[in-house]
Amino acid sequence: KKYTKEDILRLVEEEDVEFIRLQFTDMFGCLKNMAITSSQLEKALDNRCMFDGSAIDGFVKIEESDLFLHPDLDTFEIFPWRPQQGKVARLICDVYRPGDKPFEGDPRYILKTALKEAEEMGYTFYVGPECEFFLFHMDENAMPTTITHEQAGYFDLGPVDRGENARRDMVLTLEDMGFVVETSHHEAAPAQHEIDFEYDEALATADNIMTFKLTVKTIAKRHGLHATFMPKPKAEVNGSGMHINMSLSRDGRNIFQDAGDENGLSREAYYFIGGILKHIRAITAITNPLVNSYKRLVPGFEAPVYIAWSTANRSPLLRIPAAGSEKTRIELRSPDPAANPYLALAVCLRAGLEGIREKTEPPKSVNCNIFAMTEDEKKLMGIERLPGTLIEAVEELEKDEFIRETLGEHVANKYIEAKKEEWNRYRAQVTDWEINEYLNRF
Ligand code: GLN
Ligand code: MG
Ligand code: MG
Ligand code: MG
Repeated sequence: KKYTKEDILRLVEEEDVEFIRLQFTDMFGCLKNMAITSSQLEKALDNRCMFDGSAIDGFVKIEESDLFLHPDLDTFEIFPWRPQQGKVARLICDVYRPGDKPFEGDPRYILKTALKEAEEMGYTFYVGPECEFFLFHMDENAMPTTITHEQAGYFDLGPVDRGENARRDMVLTLEDMGFVVETSHHEAAPAQHEIDFEYDEALATADNIMTFKLTVKTIAKRHGLHATFMPKPKAEVNGSGMHINMSLSRDGRNIFQDAGDENGLSREAYYFIGGILKHIRAITAITNPLVNSYKRLVPGFEAPVYIAWSTANRSPLLRIPAAGSEKTRIELRSPDPAANPYLALAVCLRAGLEGIREKTEPPKSVNCNIFAMTEDEKKLMGIERLPGTLIEAVEELEKDEFIRETLGEHVANKYIEAKKEEWNRYRAQVTDWEINEYLNRF
């Protein structure tokens, strides 16, 4: 534990913090907050701040709407972009029902529950994300567009990389907030960027992803740009992924490595992969939550389409960077940054742990380019596809009792219902593509 209640009260006093934002994340991965002034801090730290849960999508009904915020003291952070006098700080909170019962619809609680299981098995779950995003122009009404005048590509630098200054500012601001930023670079598509921060225990990483997105958007705005984590804003170029690098450790040692194995992997690592691949079709409904997510998962844009893993190749869904070393990890390449990070990490972890418990053997690794294989070759090797649309993924989630149980009944039901509704709204659209394709011909 980093901070006590007294530490927080003292910090707020010393640092001249005026406002404290009590944050939490809704089921759909949107950051929410309630601001209080420092005069209310003591009440908040005693877990007595209440809000109307029925106003939050997917939370509770009007008749049972009182929910409480329990701040996690270790998440105290001052926003460096706010004024230096009368500063603004935040605390990430757990959501509770009256009577000190954790609220089963709180994504952070769902991740914590999965983490408890890992802990009981003796494991600590570490995760490092790679978040990609676009920086676009805003129009004269300060509304976001998909316009960029930039033409830079992978690893390019200024002056072609016009987002360089904004990106630099983002990195420095993140560092001010305690992030260890490992690398940042221009990504393959014009105006696309990636910033990678150091891995951490899963709960801290999920919190960090939420803070990261807020920071990137805030700093972009200061540069007159709109940062978007929408998975595929432009059809003709790469979409934005959020690769997640996962490892388990026991007694401070990475247990995914085994120098004696031909691939440098331990039995646990193979089984973890086995568990994830077994459930990946349902997991996809969580890691790729939007109609638009599936526009990214198509051939030709460095995003996975087929269910396979590899020790070498980058095209598959799962690959193993740094095999055989203390940094051995499993990189899942399907998730996108629109995913709720708490739910995404919870379902991946539990699927992996089930793999370990049940000794689920993964299929043979595929070390060639799957996109170059014929349909027959893929069939012969048993290579299946990821869900191709949101509704396909949601139907897989409906069928997968284990993943539904990981989410809990409340979230599973509400999530499936909301995503079906989202799909139905999409399905009823007549798109420009259809007009161009059919209007003249039929
Ligand atoms: N943008 C690619 C994706 O959609 C990833 C590119 C990369 O990091 N190599 O996943
Ligand atoms: Mg990367
Ligand atoms: Mg990348
Ligand atoms: Mg990667």
